[in-house]
Parts: sequence; C-alpha cells; structure tokens
Amino acid sequence: MVAKLNFQSLQTCLVLIYMFTSSTISITLPPDLKDKIHIDPDAIKAASTDYGHIVTQTPAAVLFPSSVEDLKTLIRFSFNSSVPYTIAAKGRGHSVHGEAMATNGVVVEMRSLVKNGSRIVIGGDKASGFYADVGGEQLWIDVLNATVQKGLTPVSWTDYLYLTVGGTLSNAGISGQTHLRGPQINDVNELDVVTGKGELVTCSKQQNSELFYAVLGGLGQFGIITRARIVLEPANQRVKWYRMLYTDFDTFNEDQETLMAVNESSSTPQFPNYLEGQLLMDPNSLDVYPPEDRPRIASLIKQYGILYVLETATYYDVGTKHYVDKKLHQLFNSLSSLPDIYTRDVSYVEFLNRVHTDELILRQKGLWDVPHPWLNLFIPKSGIQAFNNGVFKNILVKQNFTTSIVLVYPMYRNKWDDNMSAVIPDEEIFYTAGFLDASGFDNWQVFDNKNKEILEFCDKAGIKVKKYLGYHDSKEEWINHFGSKWKTFLDRKNQFDPKMILSPGQKIFN
Ligand code: FAD
Repeated sequence: MVAKLNFQSLQTCLVLIYMFTSSTISITLPPDLKDKIHIDPDAIKAASTDYGHIVTQTPAAVLFPSSVEDLKTLIRFSFNSSVPYTIAAKGRGHSVHGEAMATNGVVVEMRSLVKNGSRIVIGGDKASGFYADVGGEQLWIDVLNATVQKGLTPVSWTDYLYLTVGGTLSNAGISGQTHLRGPQINDVNELDVVTGKGELVTCSKQQNSELFYAVLGGLGQFGIITRARIVLEPANQRVKWYRMLYTDFDTFNEDQETLMAVNESSSTPQFPNYLEGQLLMDPNSLDVYPPEDRPRIASLIKQYGILYVLETATYYDVGTKHYVDKKLHQLFNSLSSLPDIYTRDVSYVEFLNRVHTDELILRQKGLWDVPHPWLNLFIPKSGIQAFNNGVFKNILVKQNFTTSIVLVYPMYRNKWDDNMSAVIPDEEIFYTAGFLDASGFDNWQVFDNKNKEILEFCDKAGIKVKKYLGYHDSKEEWINHFGSKWKTFLDRKNQFDPKMILSPGQKIFN
C-alpha cells in the first residue's frame, strides 16, 4: 500500500492518493492543514492500532491539531466535499476494537492539543458550585492533579485515569462512584462540540440540549468534544479502603446492595463513596493479601472455585475521621462477609490513581501492550444470579479462565439520565461485569470465543444484557442494542453528522 501526496494541486487542496494492490482511493484534504497532516509510517501505524491489539485499520492520514479551529477546518472541508472522508477523534486509543480508527479516513490525534497548554481552567464559587473547564483531549489524571491543588475534585471517575475526557464522555465513564454519583456523563454541565458539519456549538441542558444529550455517551457520533465543564466538589484528603471476602454470591450481592442503599437515606458525609466487586479464582494471585492469610484464602478458592471480593472505600479528612470510623464500624457489623476485613488507609490521589501502579508493573514485565479481548456488560438485577451460575461458575471456572480479572458491581438506573445516548438495562438496579483479559498475540481468539459464549448464554437464558464499550458486528445488532433509543440516535445523527463522517470505527453507520 502506498500513499502519495499530490503537491501540484496544493493551491486548491491537498490530495492524498492512496493505492492498494487492487484499488486506488483518493481523498482531498484542506490545504490550510498541510503542515499538521502526517502520512509518515510512524503516525499511520500509531493511528492503526489501539489498546485492544485485535483490530488494525489504516487511515489515509493523521491530523495533529494545534487548535480547535483545525478541527473545524478538517470537518468542514470533508462535509463540503463531494466525496467526504471519515474522521475519528482519537484520545489515547484505549478502546479495544478499533473504535477510534478510520479506515482510509483521517484520525485526529487529540492529545496534540495539549502542546498548546493544559486547557484545564477551574471556576465557579461555593454558592453556585465549582467546575473545571477541560479540553476533550485532557487526561483525567491531569484533571485530578489540577483540581486537588485547589482543594477540589470531580465526583465521578473511571478506575484508570490515563484516559481522555472526550473518550470517556463518549462512552459513559463508570467506576465504584457510579452507584452514588452516576457515570461521568452525569456530572457535566456544558460542552463545546465541533459537529459533523464543522460547526463549533456550545451546549448544555438549557442550550442546544439535543446536541448535549446526543454527545454524552454518543460514541463519538455527533461531534468532537473540545471542552467539557465538569462538576467539582471539595476534595477529601484520605481514603479508607476495604476488601471483604465471600464464599457465596447471594450474600455478596446482598451486601453490595445494602452498602449501595445506605446513601439513599443517609445525610452528609455520604458513604461509602466507592463500591465495586471482583472475582477471586486464582490461588496464585493473592499479592494484595497479607502473606500469613494467603494459604487460607487459597484453600477457600480451591474449595469454592470462586471467592467474591467486595471492595469499598470512604473518603475522609481530619474533621470527619471520627464520624466515618464510627459509622463504618456499625455498617460492617451488619454485613455477612468472612470475618477478616482487609483495610488500607491511603491518600485520595493514591486511591484514585491505583490502576496506574498496576500499569507500571505490567509495563515492566512487557504485559501492557498486549491484546485485550475485553467484554463489558450491564446486567439487569433479575438476571444476576443466573449470570453467576451460567457464566462465572459454568464458563469461567469450568473452562479454567481463572486468571482473568473480572469486576462485578451494582448501580442505580436513576443515577443515569435517559435523555443521553448511553444505553443501560431497564431495571432499577443493574450490575456491570467487566471481563478484562490480557492475552498473547497468538491466542486472543480463545478469550474472544469465551466472550461470545457468555453472550450466547445470556441470549438463551433470556438475560437482557447491554454491552458497555461494546462493539457490534452489524447494524442490526446496533439497532437491537439501542432498542427504543435507536430512532432518537438516528435522528440525532442525521441532524448533527448527516454525512456520517465521524467515528467510523464504531461501525454503526459506516
Ligand atoms: P479513545 O479510545 O481514543 O476513543 C474512544 C471513542 O471516543 C472513539 O469512538 C473516539 O472516536 C471517540 N472520541 C475520542 N475523543 C473524543 C472527543 N474529544 N470527542 C468525541 N469523541 C471522541 N472505562 C470506564 O468507563 N471505566 C473504567 O474504569 C475504565 N477503565 C479502563 C482501564 C483501562 C486500562 C483501559 C484501557 C480502559 C478503561 N476504560 C474504562 C475504557 C475507556 O473509558 C475507553 O477506552 C474510552 O474509549 C477512553 O479511552 P480514550 O480516551 O483512549 O478514547
């Protein structure tokens, strides 16, 4: 495959002629951007892959923007062209199935905007509420560091913070805070978006609300987020972080839901602030537990096949420490976990940035940049017991997928705004299950097949799961995924990106 630049026509436009063995494709790009559009092998290679290392899609070119104006120019030029090219904003490319790629189109390396300064501005006041105006290309870790310096913090997070604001807001952004504060898309007051027509539009629930709702959870389909106004609150300094073990799934679930319900009735300070859960199936991966306890935990895993780990955390500072200690003590007395509770007391930033510690270890071992055949699901509460039996016990344990990282925790539907594009199950309580496998380059299909088996099981058992961060193989599957929201999604697409230019890697319209 050869990409050739036609400089003769540069007065009017920049033409990329893209030659394949069997076909020639040419796309015309805006001349104003010629210094920022790259077609060198390094730029193309970086834009052709992602964290999944499963899909490879080659773009014709890569834009390294230095301003929002560059994004407008790129999109407007395509929109006005007789043969529009597709455009994918790429945050960190931490998608796993090519969602931020654009075959034969243009990938926009959003992180290139960072060179123009941090674009994180904190505003507001105590009376009307604090906020951070943040560029879509910014990493959540940088938002955290900038806000805690002022004693403030966003309220909703992802487990891992080296993701871009635009990338997570295009999905939802979930973690252990979601049960209490909703997903990250819930905690945004305003957006600047460059639509699929190349227009820069400010939107919120009050102004251009249709675009606002479309973009949040909108899988990059309606515009590129160039600024998000994120809700802030005062930051605590410390975190009490607990792990409790269960041999029985029902008891584990009940206790998760008990903890989740505390906030429905309690006043300030709200707690627990964070609630997740994990499967423990590998007796050789017990590093987070004290050495003297490991043999006992390992033998429980051998006996039961799975231990369920309830993970919860509560923020505190000097003023609330006593109150939090007392309340947690009372609360934990009402739970039914095994007697030992594993506790850590860490700084707020250390807690939120916890996955980065694992990242550094995995990078050192060469295990970070490997295939990630991930599956993330939302499961209605009515199906979660059957899911435990059919998937955790009958697929994972029986087929020996015991080294997989598997998360499972509940959240409330009423913490999500149904006007937004994100899709969740119909029931008031639903669970997320994340199968976060890492594999070799030669055996990711084994995990992919296991994921297919999980979906087939749900289908046969009538468990109406929704994929999160999910890819679908056909338009019909996407229509099924969106269900009653499909018509709105389609109408919004026709309104804001009528030429189907944006985020082709999601494979919804392209
Ligand atoms: P990309 O992968 O680059 O892009 C994702 C999609 O958004 C693409 O369609 C892209 O075109 C579009 N997009 C990117 N930027 C913009 C923008 N500015 N405007 C409009 N569209 C845009 N997710 C969670 O919810 N919770 C977690 O706890 C969590 N943990 C993770 C841990 C790890 C280690 C990894 C790798 C991912 C995790 N994720 C989690 C998934 C993450 O939210 C997605 O990968 C998401 O896509 C963010 O990654 P990104 O910023 O690299 O976006």
